[in-house]
Amino acid sequence: MQKTHLTGLAQAELSEFVASLGEPAYRARQIFQGIHARRLRAFDEMTDLPKEFRASLSDRGVISTLTLESRYLSTDGTRRYLFKTHDHRPVETVFIPEERRDTICFSSQSGCPLQCTFCLTAQLGLLRNLTAGEIVEQIIVALNDAYGVGVKTPRGTNLVGMGAGEPFLNFEELMKAIRIMKEPTGLHIVPNRITVSTAGIVPRIRELASTPDRPHLAISLAAPNDALRDELMPINRKWPIEELMAACKEFEKSLKPNQRFTFEYVMLDGVNDSDEHARQLANLLNRHALHAKVNLIPHNPADPLPYQPSPMKRVEAFRQILEGKGAHAFIRRPRGRDILAACGQLAARGAPVQVEKTASAHRIA
Ligand code: SAH
Repeated sequence: MQKTHLTGLAQAELSEFVASLGEPAYRARQIFQGIHARRLRAFDEMTDLPKEFRASLSDRGVISTLTLESRYLSTDGTRRYLFKTHDHRPVETVFIPEERRDTICFSSQSGCPLQCTFCLTAQLGLLRNLTAGEIVEQIIVALNDAYGVGVKTPRGTNLVGMGAGEPFLNFEELMKAIRIMKEPTGLHIVPNRITVSTAGIVPRIRELASTPDRPHLAISLAAPNDALRDELMPINRKWPIEELMAACKEFEKSLKPNQRFTFEYVMLDGVNDSDEHARQLANLLNRHALHAKVNLIPHNPADPLPYQPSPMKRVEAFRQILEGKGAHAFIRRPRGRDILAACGQLAARGAPVQVEKTASAHRIA
């Protein structure tokens, strides 16, 4: 019999599980709190449970299914965790410390089926979707490592679903993970502190528009016209820019007046970064009366990707053209490039210079 991964169970499901073991409902609450609020990683650490119950729990269930293989530390403080699932698939998570707040970037799939030409994850292909439990577990491990086991998560800490994979091709498990994480008796990370990024899975953008308690949305654009976007992001052939913009408009209409969603635009030297591209992008947003902000992300190079980042002067000129046409544009500073932890660099690789290898890191898992 396969054991149940308890980290992926909502409170009600955990109650059923506990009931099936013949135990009262308050035990489920204790376990939920143990996993998500105290962020304990083994039944034996739940010393508020009777010993025999802990034994029968571990016969039927597990708390942790991800094994930490390596932990890489960047010179800028960014940390990358490389896990293996129980069936030996790679999963990567990144912790990005910032002055005002920290960010945890999680993966939704092992590998990715989309074939964006500027992204290293694409080279893995899709290995499989991650379960809600595997998504939640990434965050628990990163929080424990950053702040200490069970230490309260700082208010400002945000989550972004921008790691490996296309979150909207794993929508059910993603949304389940988000529901589990918002529980006040658990991690208590509300959807308002989470941003999910999509390459443009139009039906799911529309579905999100009608979902009440939802994360923030970011859309990866990378090109202002279909000819170029078809080439850089082949998903565009299925849902071209006009369809994408129509879905974005529907999403925007569902926002509260002061809320914005985001476009991400990776800046590839000599490919999508000309003045003309900037004008096309601004015109596109204006034509659809979209008030989204645009994040310009200098390309993070990695062998064998065929691109270089646009020079900073170019990125700045691009930003100014957007601003001049009324779009709100921001330049993102790359983080963790030296350990292959930056956007689009997650491909289960070792770091070029391995700063810290696992032995000690295993203890935190
Ligand atoms: N599949 C989702 C989430 C993962 S990609 C999506 O496409 O949005 C997260 C972000 O990283 C996207 O905005 C993507 O455009 C960007 N990205 C991918 N490869 C990159 C690279 N090599 N350099 C900079 N940004 C990159």
